[in-house]
Amino acid sequence: MQEWTTEESAGLYQIGGWGEPYFSINAAGHVAVSPTNDSESQIDLYHLVQDLEKRGLSMPMLIRFSDILADRIARLNHCFSQAIKEYEYANVYKGVYPVKVNQQRHVVEELVEYGRPFQFGLEAGSKPELLIALSTLKTPGALIICNGYKDSEYIETALLAQRLGQTPIIVLERFHELHLVIEAARKLNIRPILGVRAKLTARGIGRWGDSTGDRAKFGLNAGEIVEVVETLRRNDLLSSLQLLHFHIGSQISAINVIKSALKEASRVFVELAQMGAPMQYVDVGGGLAIDYDGSKTNFRASKNYNMQEYAYDVVAAFQEACKAKDVPVPILVSESGRAIASHQSVLVFDVMGVSGMKVGTPEALRKGEHVIIQNLYETYTNISPDNVQEAYNDASQFKEEALSLFALGYLSLQERARVEKLYWASCERILRLVRELDYIPDELADLEQTMASTYYCNFSVFQSCPDSWAIDQLFPIMPIHRLEEEPTARGTLADLTCDSDGKIDQFIDLRDVKSVLELHPVNEGETYYLAIFLSGAYQEILGDMHNLFGDTNTVHIHLNPSGAGYQVEHVVKGDTMTEVLKYVQYDHEALLESIRREAEKALRDKRITLSESRLLLRHYERSLSGYTYLSQQPETEPALI
Ligand SMILES: *Cc1c(COP(=O)(O)O)cnc(C)c1O
Repeated sequence: MQEWTTEESAGLYQIGGWGEPYFSINAAGHVAVSPTNDSESQIDLYHLVQDLEKRGLSMPMLIRFSDILADRIARLNHCFSQAIKEYEYANVYKGVYPVKVNQQRHVVEELVEYGRPFQFGLEAGSKPELLIALSTLKTPGALIICNGYKDSEYIETALLAQRLGQTPIIVLERFHELHLVIEAARKLNIRPILGVRAKLTARGIGRWGDSTGDRAKFGLNAGEIVEVVETLRRNDLLSSLQLLHFHIGSQISAINVIKSALKEASRVFVELAQMGAPMQYVDVGGGLAIDYDGSKTNFRASKNYNMQEYAYDVVAAFQEACKAKDVPVPILVSESGRAIASHQSVLVFDVMGVSGMKVGTPEALRKGEHVIIQNLYETYTNISPDNVQEAYNDASQFKEEALSLFALGYLSLQERARVEKLYWASCERILRLVRELDYIPDELADLEQTMASTYYCNFSVFQSCPDSWAIDQLFPIMPIHRLEEEPTARGTLADLTCDSDGKIDQFIDLRDVKSVLELHPVNEGETYYLAIFLSGAYQEILGDMHNLFGDTNTVHIHLNPSGAGYQVEHVVKGDTMTEVLKYVQYDHEALLESIRREAEKALRDKRITLSESRLLLRHYERSLSGYTYLSQQPETEPALI
């Protein structure tokens, strides 16, 4: 047998496809992280995790690589400046980060810092997000795009921010907001900078296809846009209208969808300019997709274009449309969230246990065994690459017959057990051969899933990757070590919740989707670590506390400027049980008091001994201040960080 190589693991898990240039496999068979995109400063993820555990941080943990975030922002800006240069576009790019994608303070603060050289701004989609943007963004000239439903308070706050030197642009999402804006501007005597969100007819596709089109929740149709212009003109505010916005949905996998939206939007832009609005900006919204499966296709978990092509298309569309009508080209704004925030976060968790079919080799045929057992045994021994389908049919039929015989009293329980063992051993053999086939017959396609093990994992799908549950989103998932070793097991992942939906059984594959993941058998006495990658966008805030599993431990890892090693920048300890219980209105002291009283009563009635009662109370109290996830080793020492 040939040795398994790390290259084979790389191919199997597609790490080159979705991980480039940040994630790869090193010679030790561990996942390596290159946050700054050069091999000099590689971090061994497995060693990092062990290091963090030594510091008292337990599983599961979310690791954010700050340098990846910095690289994503630099990359996006570089792509636009490249396109601007190449097309000799006579204006600039000024992106904004949509806060809703990941509102965690450390993330937003880092973003603002790394974005400063590019005058990168923030986008708010609600009042609380506006509050974050106003107090966090301190970059002169950077934009604050104010989206979402607005009331007078929202609008007045945005207007007043101009007095602080900010550049808030109020985007009209609904016609009704126009009157609120006119009123607020008059009341405060501040000239607003306004945008309109156009409802494009170019349809998005996929999950968020309804973000545009006639039935879209947000945006103004052509008639309403014309009405906005006329109303502003009448109120002597047309000079305020400076931005056109559109957003055709998230994770747009197909470039032609983006192209047709750009075409339509650039026409609207030119028309607005010709109607007399001093148009200065176009905001192309989000939608820049991530290649979760690395297939570079227009499959929903992928995209058939890259960031540079996207930038070229945006620049080209407005260059052409404006040139045609002799309108000055606008400042380009995009609200790419997923494309900026996804790569930075990796969720690492351990496997608590595995359950699966332990088939083993069946005993040899004994003299005088039932004829059905003889038949099945013969099928089992004769399985070959040429007869897998036939062998499977035979084995299944013999098993069915055996079950009928058992029901009728012609087969003992021992004999039935023998039949089942032979049947599963046959299936296992067949499956091994099927995996080598180019074409898998329909009847055998489910065999992989039927035979798969369940890996019980120390995390909650609902808390840490809710989109996997809610919208069947695919994330790259793989072991972070033992990658020099062939993963001989096949499994699906079950989480800690007691919800049967708390599982992952859809995995990335070059062709469509896989129902099982290649994994290693868990070695006795050794922790087996898996990780979910590209999870930095949306997952944290959409996550919920199903079964009261709270926020996970989170760390920010920052490379040392010297290039050697890394430093642990922020440690955000995950929720304690007291914290999640408080969220559902349970008071720590009241809970303790109640259990103490019950224990006293039990002591009095001699239902519990003194030492049992002491142990119970100690567990109860310690749990309250502990992490909501399971700890492999009992936590004896306090965290060192
Ligand atoms: C959600 C959203 C975005 C971010 O979209 P991504 O696909 O994550 O880039 C941008 N703009 C608006 C208006 C949004 O609602």
